[in-house]
Amino acid sequence: MRKKYVVGNWKMFKTSETALNYFSDLQNKLRDSTTVLPDIGICSPAVFLQELSPLKRSVHLYAQNVHWEPEGAFTGEISTQMLLGCNITGSLVAHSERRQYFNETNLSAGKKLNALLSQNLQAIYCVGESLQERESGEFNNIIETQLKDAFIQCSQEVKNHIQTSAKEHNSTQISVHPQPLSIAYEPVWAIGTGKAATVKDAHDVHQFIRKVLSEIFDHETANSIRILYGGSVKASNAVEYLSDDKIDGALIGGASLNPDDFFKICCLTNL
Ligand code: PEP
Repeated sequence: MRKKYVVGNWKMFKTSETALNYFSDLQNKLRDSTTVLPDIGICSPAVFLQELSPLKRSVHLYAQNVHWEPEGAFTGEISTQMLLGCNITGSLVAHSERRQYFNETNLSAGKKLNALLSQNLQAIYCVGESLQERESGEFNNIIETQLKDAFIQCSQEVKNHIQTSAKEHNSTQISVHPQPLSIAYEPVWAIGTGKAATVKDAHDVHQFIRKVLSEIFDHETANSIRILYGGSVKASNAVEYLSDDKIDGALIGGASLNPDDFFKICCLTNL
């Protein structure tokens, strides 16, 4: 069983004060909730991570980006060592806004995955097609390339780590969560546009992604990796996605900015 995972992405929003208030408020709400909750994560701007980390109770805390080198002359970047020093869960990799505005490629994404996973940090790897790629019918090929070209950058050790975690997860039947790796399927045309993919479209792509993962790793590993849907998920449509058997959770941008809205979505997963 893959436990559902709901992850908020704050993008480049919030101040130190609003971030701290939100993080405490959300965790208090979760502590007081009587609902069965999913795993929950927040991807914060890097500058708040150090302040948020000591407040972390039930919520996993992620960076939104990371560099693949442990240190060096890379002005403006942050490293896995810095995340480890702040006791952070991991990082998003290759969010479509990074691909679109900051030249993130499958190659750089693969190096980041390798850096995170080899340091026992977790990665949420984002894949997804543009509107043009969707309309041309080429989207499955694009997504397959995003997965295969990135994971080819990962060492055998990293692949073994993912496979071993999957085996442990499957053999105990206990949720050893989060697993080192999650995938987020985020069609670019659905992010921040209010135009969500249909559940059927997301379901089909998730099934396809799992097939590709089984070619990269193996069937058992592919079965343990959570695949989240992202793109204009909000409280009014979240149930449809979260109740689909191929959709293991959601990566939520705009609707995660308000803790009440985000908490509401977290509580919908067991409906
Ligand atoms: C995102 O930032 O990953 C995202 C899916 O954004 P939104 O929910 O606003 O579409």
